[in-house]
Amino acid sequence: MADLRELYQEVILEHSKAPRNYRELAAANHSAEGYNPLCGDHFTVYLNLEGDSIRDISFQGSGCAISKASASMMTQTLKGKSRADAEKLFEAFRKLVTTGQANGDQPQLGKLAVFSGVSEFPVRVKCATLAWHTLQAALEGKQDTVSTE
Ligand code: ZN
Repeated sequence: MADLRELYQEVILEHSKAPRNYRELAAANHSAEGYNPLCGDHFTVYLNLEGDSIRDISFQGSGCAISKASASMMTQTLKGKSRADAEKLFEAFRKLVTTGQANGDQPQLGKLAVFSGVSEFPVRVKCATLAWHTLQAALEGKQDTVSTE
């Protein structure tokens, strides 16, 4: 287990140092801002939605390694997915980071499984889910800043 944990930490560090899809999306037709006051994580998530499909997704902002890696891997996972898929993945991801367990009937989290260790650090759950809450606000078209508090 220790080796696996190290591997997970490496993946998270690597994504936080070189986040994917880290840019403003010129073609964005939805966006939202998210803030986690407990840690100071602050991101904007940009979406290009075509009908119900996420054609493109990106983010920008600043935050701790976990929040940034989570946002980076979320954008990688969701590109090309439908809004319904995104909502199901968020549910599965939230369960994973709060309980450390993936649910059998949930969609495949794939690489997002590296965040299972976050469940041991409840204060970090908000870091890991911030990008997802922000995504949800962007999908719903809310203009207000979402806060984890
Ligand atoms: Zn954080």
